[in-house]
Amino acid sequence: MSSSLAIGAHVDQTDPIAEAAARRAPLVQFFLGDPQGYKGPEIAYEGGADKLRADAEAAGVDLYVHAPYIINIATTNNRIRIPSRKLLQQHLDAAASIGAKGLIVHGGHVNKADDPEKGFDNWRKAIEATEISIPLLIENTAGGENAMTRYLDRIGRVWDAISSAEGSDMVGFCLDTCHAHAGGNALETVVNDVRALTGRIDLVHCNDSRDAFDSGADRHANFGAGQIDADLLAAVVRDAGAPVVCETPGGAAEHAADFAWLRERL
Ligand SMILES: [Zn+2]
Repeated sequence: MSSSLAIGAHVDQTDPIAEAAARRAPLVQFFLGDPQGYKGPEIAYEGGADKLRADAEAAGVDLYVHAPYIINIATTNNRIRIPSRKLLQQHLDAAASIGAKGLIVHGGHVNKADDPEKGFDNWRKAIEATEISIPLLIENTAGGENAMTRYLDRIGRVWDAISSAEGSDMVGFCLDTCHAHAGGNALETVVNDVRALTGRIDLVHCNDSRDAFDSGADRHANFGAGQIDADLLAAVVRDAGAPVVCETPGGAAEHAADFAWLRERL
């Protein structure tokens, strides 16, 4: 059963269909435009959004879009939160236009001195204010002083807050194994722990971690090259039972090696 899990990778956005073919992957994730900029999404694919959607369908490739890293929905800083909401809406719309199965966004954080309650409430407001036409997958993060989705209790609080918002049925969860480990959450129980809070895991970002448990560092490693126990990494993927995106270093050859490593252990 587990061998049927769909495994793909984060790839360059210019030609995601060719990237999928080079990896024999049934799914790929990519950015739409600059992951570090406030400029709106761009479709780099030759032929544009409609062509990408049609070509992905014809090739049988599922597309996932990762939102820019700079989006911080939770922050109390208006000058970041307001453009973040705008960017989130723009990326949801752009991702929908290419037929993406989901848009992945980090949980964000409030400032060190802020009450985290404000962050939870900002998430609720954002969900209410956003038109969510494809699944919006909130991802756990590795670090941050006052992060929304590093530790389990906070993930639970975000979920409690958004559950009352209209549109929350379109909000799902993306579990990143590197972030969970480096963020200080036991991989032995994280799948059940997260499910108990969110009711769902829609996507797994499978990454080994260059850094130690609870280090707070977000540095991905190829499988077997980091500090996560091999069997534990495979067990998380198996137990989550969701499509897998490897955000590991390298290109098609390294990713194919990571897929094989993982499949051997599932
Ligand atoms: Zn990730």
